[in-house]
Amino acid sequence: DSTSLRQLDQDHHFHPFTDLRDYASHGGRIVNRAEHIYIYDTDGNRMLDGMSGLWCCNLGYSQHQIVEAIYQQLQQLPFYNNFFRCSNQPAVELARALVEVTPESFNHVFFTNSGSEANDTNIRLVHRYYDLLGKPEKKLFISRKNAYHGSTIAASSLGGMSAMHQQVRGLDYVHHIGQPHWFAEGGELSPEEFGIKVARELEAKIDELGEDRVAAFIAEPIQGAGGVIVPPDSYWPEIQRICDQRDILLIADEVICGFGRTGSWFGSDSYQIKPQLMTFAKAITNGYFPLGGVMISDQIADVLLAHGGEFTHGLTYSGHPAACAAGLATLRTLQETNIIQTAADTIGPHFQRRLRELEDHPIVGEVRGRGMFAAVELVRDKRSRERLAPDSASAVYCRDRANSNGLMVRQTGDAMITAPPLISSTAEIDSLVEKLHQALDETAAHYGV
Ligand code: PLP
Repeated sequence: DSTSLRQLDQDHHFHPFTDLRDYASHGGRIVNRAEHIYIYDTDGNRMLDGMSGLWCCNLGYSQHQIVEAIYQQLQQLPFYNNFFRCSNQPAVELARALVEVTPESFNHVFFTNSGSEANDTNIRLVHRYYDLLGKPEKKLFISRKNAYHGSTIAASSLGGMSAMHQQVRGLDYVHHIGQPHWFAEGGELSPEEFGIKVARELEAKIDELGEDRVAAFIAEPIQGAGGVIVPPDSYWPEIQRICDQRDILLIADEVICGFGRTGSWFGSDSYQIKPQLMTFAKAITNGYFPLGGVMISDQIADVLLAHGGEFTHGLTYSGHPAACAAGLATLRTLQETNIIQTAADTIGPHFQRRLRELEDHPIVGEVRGRGMFAAVELVRDKRSRERLAPDSASAVYCRDRANSNGLMVRQTGDAMITAPPLISSTAEIDSLVEKLHQALDETAAHYGV
């Protein structure tokens, strides 16, 4: 039964990003069923999933054609590898389909199982690229503080979240600049002025480290796990200018932004960024099967192809047939339903408009977002932006209240985060906002505002 399942989980299962001692004594919920945009736990609770799982089930939980594609593929060819001159049909077809939906400069893909591994792959690709170009000293990566690029040692090092470095020191070839988080750090500057200022930190860092040593800059078009940090409009054009002028590769981490989240196929499309590498994972299979990868632009692919030789990097499950079948079914669904455009025209604007109404709430300092994700920043005082409580406690409280009220949202710092599926109806978005409003009321009462 549910109680003994939860007890077994507490006794034997170490959970990611979970306070282990707290979990061992209090446990959590066991989700055992999902439908449309709702998840159900073994205690009979139904929750509206305002996070699309971990920002991955962009089409919700009832895409039976994706499940069927995985099942069919497992029956036909449950596994074979892509090493040593072998391939499989779903991997071939998915590679071609990805080339169709990504910007023109991309004609090659490297498959991994996850976004973390894809970002590790980026590092190895970039180092090989510059080695082959005869510039072996170009090895340094610049990324942003408070970014999340995954949990492997290299990806967490790129990430720049200090908490991620509890177990490891960051890699010595990774350096960080600030994030375009106007609400937290903009001070007296207008958003546009602030966008230029933080973008120019990249230029200053390149000067400091030496242009001949800096290989690449990696960033999410909109920083997701860091708190849905929507950059001012001035930010990306300035970053692009700097990368172009200073001969620095631009890597867009599209793990969250990709496949419709920002209102376009990719965040790079929304911001007209022209990256040489693009990381993807999560929504490529609608979250139903582990799959990630890197889109490789011709600029890099041509060098690797011209030189030949092995790219000595790969994973047993690179291009796993069932994962690629899931990816292909997901891409076909996105294309055939035109859901990205529909969401951009209808549910996205409704979601953003309804959430922005929360700016009238006494403990809400800012609502920001784009497409189908957003952050609601909690404050005690709207003018001074004084926090409600130290150590993000108020947002943790608010998240727990929302979860108890049947809404899955998450918390980053003092912000509440929500990223519901693109297939949500207007009534469902209204219900999400209502539940969030209720959690905000309860939080305000708890903290005496
Ligand atoms: N990059 C970004 C932007 C992410 O948000 C994540 C995961 O949340 C990753 C990379 C890591 O992906 P994965 O968890 O599949 O390794």
